[in-house]
Amino acid sequence: MTTPPATVWRDILGQVRLNHPRLARGWFSELQLTAVEDGVIHIGTCNHAQSDYLQQHCRAAFTEAAQAATGRLVSVTFDVGPAREDQSRVASLGSGPDQLLLNPDYTFDNFVTGPCNRLAHAAALAVADEPGRAYNPFFIHGPVGLGKTHLLQAICHAIRENRSDITSHYISCETFINDFIEAVELGALHRFRYRYRHVDVLVIDDIQFLAERERSQEEFFHTFNTLHQSQRQIILSADCSPPEIPSLEERLISRFNSGLVALLDRPCLETRMAIIRKKAKLRCIEVPEEVVRLVAGRIDTNIRSLEGTLVKIDALSQTQSGTITLKVALEALGGDSGRAVKIPAILEAVSKRFEVKVSDLQGKKRSKAVTHPRHVSIFLARQLTSQSLEEIGGYFGGRDHSTVLHASRTIERQADEDPQFRAMLDEIASDVKNGAY
Ligand code: ADP
Ligand code: MG
Repeated sequence: MTTPPATVWRDILGQVRLNHPRLARGWFSELQLTAVEDGVIHIGTCNHAQSDYLQQHCRAAFTEAAQAATGRLVSVTFDVGPAREDQSRVASLGSGPDQLLLNPDYTFDNFVTGPCNRLAHAAALAVADEPGRAYNPFFIHGPVGLGKTHLLQAICHAIRENRSDITSHYISCETFINDFIEAVELGALHRFRYRYRHVDVLVIDDIQFLAERERSQEEFFHTFNTLHQSQRQIILSADCSPPEIPSLEERLISRFNSGLVALLDRPCLETRMAIIRKKAKLRCIEVPEEVVRLVAGRIDTNIRSLEGTLVKIDALSQTQSGTITLKVALEALGGDSGRAVKIPAILEAVSKRFEVKVSDLQGKKRSKAVTHPRHVSIFLARQLTSQSLEEIGGYFGGRDHSTVLHASRTIERQADEDPQFRAMLDEIASDVKNGAY
C-alpha cells in the first residue's frame, strides 16, 4: 500500500471540479486520498452520506480524473475515513427499518435561517442535541420545497456525527406503509413491529401519505405509542398541519400535536438571497450579487426551483464565456419568467407610486422629486428586463451607460441600508411582473 504525492490528489480534485461542475461540492475539499492499493485509489470521506453520494454519482468522474492524473488505468473507491468511522450505521444494520440514503448536502451548516424558519430550525437543533427529551414528537410542516426534508436529514446527520450511542432511522411514509403491507402478506408482523419499535430516533418524511390508510394509521398509532412511552424520539414532516391531513384519525392528530409543531413558511427576499449564496458556495459556483438579487426576486415560492434556476444559469454560462453574468441569468430565466417585463410598464408603475409624470421620468429635470424615482425606474429596468445599459439609457432621454450604472447602484445601496425601501421596490417589481401595468 502506498500514499501518492499530494499533487496527484490536487490534480484529481481539480479535474473533477473542472470537468464535472454539476457534481462538484464545496465539501470535496474535506476528502482525502488515503491509499493506493492494487491499482485502486482509496478516497476517505467524512461520513456514509458523503461516500454514498460519491459512489452513486461521482465514481466515473473521479476514475476519469484519477486516470488522467496518474497516467494509469486505476480505479477509485470511497470509504468512510478510519478516524471517522461512524458506529451508528453499524449499530443500525439488521435492526431498524431499511433507510433512505441521506443527502450529504442537507446539513445544519447548509441550512439558511430567517424569520420563515427560525422556530423549526432552533427546535431541530434542540432535538438533534437531546433526542427524546427536547420536543417529542417534533412535527414540521409547510408547502413543498421549503426545506422539510433538509431539516429532517440535518437532524439525522447531527445525531450520527455526535451520538454514536444512538440509532436514527430516516424513512419515507411510503416505506412504512409498504413494509407494513408486506409484513401482513407474509404473516411477519412481529418482525415488522420489532424493527420499528426498537429504534432510538424514528424520522418519517411526508407523513401526510397516511391519509385514508386506515390500517397503516392503526399500526402507526401503536408504533408511535411504544416509542413515545420509552422516550424514543419521533420526528415527522408533512405538507400541512396535523388536523389538515385528510381523514387522519383524531387520536393521531392529538398525538402529533402533543409535542412541537413547527411551520416552515415561505422565505423573504433576504433569506432567498442568502440561500442562493449558500447553494452557490456549496456547488463552487461564483454568482455576482446582481444575479443573486435577480433570481431571488423572480422566484419567491419554492426553494427547489431557486436551486434549479441556479444550476440552469451555471450550465448556460458554461456553454458561453464560463462566467455568470446578468445577461446569462436573464437568458436562463427567460423561459421561466412568464411575461417579459417592458420598460414602459416600469415607468407607469413608478410614475403612479411616486406621483410624477412619465414624461418627467424620461426628461431632463434634476430636482430630487424627479431624479429619485427616475433612478428607481432605471434600477428596476436593470433588474427586470434584459435590455442593455445603452438601451435603458435610451428610454431615459438618451443617458449614457455610466449614468445608468450609477443610478442603479445608488438605488441598490439605499435599498441595502433601508429594508422598508427594499420592500417597496419588491412590491413595485412584483406588480410589474404580474402584469398590473
Ligand atoms: P421539502 O421537503 O419541504 O419539499 P426540501 O427539504 O426537499 O423541501 O428542500 C428543497 C430544496 O431547497 C433542497 O435543496 C434544500 O436544500 C433547499 N432548501 C430549503 N430551505 C432551505 C434553507 N433554509 N436553506 C438552505 N437550503 C434550503
Ligand atoms: Mg420533502
